[in-house]
Amino acid sequence: MSLDLTIAVSKGRILQEALPLLARAGIVPEEDPERSRRLILPTGRAGVRLVVIRAADVPTYVQYGAADLGIAGKDVLLEHGGAGLYEPLDLGIARCRMMVAGLPGATPAPPTRLRVATKYVTTARRHFAAQGRQVETIKLYGSMELAPLVGLAHCIVDLVDTGGTLKANGLVPLELIAEISSRVIVNQAAMKMKHDPVKALLAALADAAGVPATASGGRAGAGGGG
Ligand code: AMP
Repeated sequence: MSLDLTIAVSKGRILQEALPLLARAGIVPEEDPERSRRLILPTGRAGVRLVVIRAADVPTYVQYGAADLGIAGKDVLLEHGGAGLYEPLDLGIARCRMMVAGLPGATPAPPTRLRVATKYVTTARRHFAAQGRQVETIKLYGSMELAPLVGLAHCIVDLVDTGGTLKANGLVPLELIAEISSRVIVNQAAMKMKHDPVKALLAALADAAGVPATASGGRAGAGGGG
């Protein structure tokens, strides 16, 4: 069995913030991942390659062992559920908050059934169920902020960073669901079968991020790592 390691990294903001950190661990892709059409990128660290994919796909690749490790937002891990994954490292990058937001005073009280537009239907349902509230979720793939403005939903569940997007659309944050940052996830079988190279890589990434590496981390998803 090859002891080479494949790391799946979320495109976009996470990739941008992860690249300097990966470089400090000697992981410099041989081509610019934002420009290259190649999907598998060898790196300057021997035996380590990167695949750069959509954020929501990262846990899936790692769960099935198509990638040994991944860098994904906690938002995506909460939604995925964490099956087959360890979450040993919080890189502290791409920080934001997952929030319920809506127009001021426009969310109906029970027994009216709340309609919630979101990309995060599982997490949203879990959040409201914990309050004993049944909600109707409407799955969207982008521009969640529009939904309450045009009467598609009473409120949204989305990521909030500066709050600028909410404010520009007259929306207000209503409830905090989770503090979000990017985490390193590891395939549970790879953690056993490729223990030494995985451990060495985790130590290098923890060092690069200036954070402590835990023994193996909790399971990813709802209960894991915060
Ligand atoms: P802001 O206006 O700074 O509050 O940013 C909100 C917009 O950016 C929303 O459309 C979010 O979905 C998106 N966003 C905020 N933080 C992140 C993040 N860490 N990763 C991906 N998208 C984000």
